[in-house]
Amino acid sequence: MKNWLIAGLMFFGAVSGSAQSKNLAEGGCATVTTPQEMQMIKDYLSSNFAAQKTTNVVDSVPLSIHIVSKTDGSGRYFLDHLLSVLCDLNTRYAPIGFYFYVRWPIHYINNSSFYDHNYTAGYQMMNQNNVANTANIYFVNDPNGACGYYSPAQGADAIAISKGCAGPNSTTVTHELGHYFGLPHTFFGWENGNIPSNPEKVTRGAGANCSSAGDGFCDTDADYLSARWNCPYTGNKLDQMGVPYHPDSSLYMGYSDDACMSRFSLQQKGAMQFKLTNSRGYLLQSHATGAAVLDTLRMIYPTDTLFLNRRLAVWHKVPGAEYYFVSITSGNSLTPRQDTIVADTTLIIDAPMNYNVKYRITVAPLSSVNVCRATGTKIDFYNTGSTTSVNDLGATAGAIEVFPNPAHQSATIKVMQVPSGNYRISVLNLSGQEVYTQTLQHAGGETSMSIPTAQLANGLYLLRFVGDASNLTQKLIIQH
Ligand SMILES: [Zn+2]
Repeated sequence: MKNWLIAGLMFFGAVSGSAQSKNLAEGGCATVTTPQEMQMIKDYLSSNFAAQKTTNVVDSVPLSIHIVSKTDGSGRYFLDHLLSVLCDLNTRYAPIGFYFYVRWPIHYINNSSFYDHNYTAGYQMMNQNNVANTANIYFVNDPNGACGYYSPAQGADAIAISKGCAGPNSTTVTHELGHYFGLPHTFFGWENGNIPSNPEKVTRGAGANCSSAGDGFCDTDADYLSARWNCPYTGNKLDQMGVPYHPDSSLYMGYSDDACMSRFSLQQKGAMQFKLTNSRGYLLQSHATGAAVLDTLRMIYPTDTLFLNRRLAVWHKVPGAEYYFVSITSGNSLTPRQDTIVADTTLIIDAPMNYNVKYRITVAPLSSVNVCRATGTKIDFYNTGSTTSVNDLGATAGAIEVFPNPAHQSATIKVMQVPSGNYRISVLNLSGQEVYTQTLQHAGGETSMSIPTAQLANGLYLLRFVGDASNLTQKLIIQH
């Protein structure tokens, strides 16, 4: 909980407003469920919805991910943490019957006034960037001084999360999505230091008020704890009838510590399903559910050494992968030297690195329904200041030659011993941008083709030949 406290103090120093500062002192989530949302819970409990929903259909829910940096591009949420959180989300929501999938691409926003925002800027961020018919989540530094909040405001209707509260094993996103699907806190009414006029009694059965007080659910225990607490509860508070209470630390919608939480109650589950069916039906589009298994990724380069003149990573395409997570780390540092999610099977390495030092590159295939990285590959390599004369980085089938090299008006590419199949030839500048591309249906064996280079600026490029059975990279120099 250190993280939200730090975020809170930063907020308190930066923005005036005593109302918000109470959130910081007491909890970390700034969501307060509206009367309309509380009415929905009553509607659910008085309906026969739960009885009707007898099948175990899994509902697919698209998530749009927005990662906010400062205006200069610095400070953003680590993608490693994002993928951990998204992976956990589906384990936690499996009992609810929800399966979250990623609506690509991930959106990157560079805007310091969204990175550390008050509610007004947060509204603008959501209003300007939301993707329709998806659940939108924004990872920022400081969402109005809280760990996170869900804004039900018309034109916003999205979640903001502090990156400091969204590390591996955190429950913040799970909790805020609970709000998004209509759930109040288990301590509803006690937020911001308030004391409700009709506190929920501990007692159930005769004399109980659980359906009209607190969160409105009778299968969540009375809970008055609107500040973070560690489990098990060791306090000795009493309810208004003098009965000792025992808040349930396992519920995601309470404020026990992350490690204490493991579930939603049955009534919470039903209310979320009710909300999805009755007011968020637009999220339900036909989409595959379940984490389709992706093959283990095979690295081509680097394998043990990264050469000065080959500062790139190359790997084999994984069938079904839509994107690849790539991260370069050193030692036990939690801060990646470079982390990205790319569609291509090549990445220019531009991480700052020392020579003759060991680093690790992790590359993992991702699909919209599987971002768990279970079939990723980790390679430890030395970064050297030496160069290599080997042009073909991958020991894959075939070879390509390019000539003349340096090229002027055009370059001829000769493909040799490459199996038949579909291939793509592309030219990348050193920023990794594709400046030319062409597809080829190769009949096998040897073939030649010409690519125009007159429009390309002088400099060093990478020529790539990637496809069904080969993945080759060559250096190409343009000189006019
Ligand atoms: Zn909350």
